[in-house]
Amino acid sequence: MSKQMLTGSFQLMKSLNRSAILNIIREQGPISRADIAKLTKLTPPTVSNLVKELLDTGIIIETYQGESSGGRKPTMLDINSERFYVIGLDIGSYQIKAVLANLNGFIVKKASFSIPTPINNDRLLSLMIQAVHHMKEGIDDTESRMIGIGVGMHGIIDVDNGESLFAPNLNLYNIPIQKTLEKEFDILIKVENDVRAMALGERWFGNGHGTDSLVCINIGRGIGAGIIMDGKLFHGHNFISGEIGHMTIDIDGPKCSCGNYGCLQTLASGPAIARKAKTEIGLGHPSILTQLVGGDLGNITGETVYEAAAQGDPLSVSILSQAGRYIGIGLTNIIHLINPKRIIIGGGVSNAGSLILESIQDTIYQRALTASAKQTEIMLSKLGEDATALGAVTLILEELFATTSNA
Ligand SMILES: [Zn+2]
Repeated sequence: MSKQMLTGSFQLMKSLNRSAILNIIREQGPISRADIAKLTKLTPPTVSNLVKELLDTGIIIETYQGESSGGRKPTMLDINSERFYVIGLDIGSYQIKAVLANLNGFIVKKASFSIPTPINNDRLLSLMIQAVHHMKEGIDDTESRMIGIGVGMHGIIDVDNGESLFAPNLNLYNIPIQKTLEKEFDILIKVENDVRAMALGERWFGNGHGTDSLVCINIGRGIGAGIIMDGKLFHGHNFISGEIGHMTIDIDGPKCSCGNYGCLQTLASGPAIARKAKTEIGLGHPSILTQLVGGDLGNITGETVYEAAAQGDPLSVSILSQAGRYIGIGLTNIIHLINPKRIIIGGGVSNAGSLILESIQDTIYQRALTASAKQTEIMLSKLGEDATALGAVTLILEELFATTSNA
């Protein structure tokens, strides 16, 4: 495990055996002490002692009397989910979204903060600090109830040091996020790439529930993937795993911001969908998009193309279906490379729902190698626009409930 300042409540709850007990209560609670002892193979007196310590921290509570199996009725234990909070930050291209959530992933409070231009490292860090202070305001007893702060940020993240190495959409480098927030708040801080955080969030609270083998795709301004294999996030050797937006789909395709041609995100991202619509209308293709944007084609976005498609506009329907085909080709490559059980699609483009999903599924069905690969589950994100911020929250929950060290 990386070097971290573990203070306050978090430290009290965290030890190998306490975490094992906590995790069992989270997964199977309400549960009795006797059943915890059976499942953990710890002795009943050890379980009683650790449970008492956990009760003292307030993270678990005694609930009702369970069924007796002969002797005294057992007192059932459960997680006191509403007592503790985690703050999650989603650092995007234009704004910081912040949520304050309890241990069930229930969002108690949320807010967003525009990122001003021009921006530099110090100004962005100050804005993050301001966002956290705002989330803590109005919450009683925040110091003892706050377990940690998770941060999901676009771009390349060094997760060991909690540093943003490169944030392309803000054109910033080497932002010491973890170090700065630890200094200000003296609490557990975890920083992760936004799509990986999203994948973790979907696994805890969304459509990834119950699977250890999962890929989450974020399709918006760019395209990225968060990969969970054997229940763990996969980072790659230098933290660039999942950059599928730059997977070459058409070597003769449009030029990408990365300098290559025909990358997936030049064909299927929000801006790519908008560009395609502008080109087709420019070539004389009729479309209600022209009316929707008041005659100014410069106002066409991925969103307006979706709106038009939802109203039955044939050009927009065909553009989304074509984008779905490109995404389907990219996902087939992923299926052949890592063979996940499930793929979850989030981000702005996923708002097009069935208008794009069917085309993605058809493409995979046509191209995947085996009958079972053709049936790979493809679902839309359940967490929607909160997916990254809630994913950032789960970075902390993973630490709190983890039964083994990540070392
Ligand atoms: Zn590229």
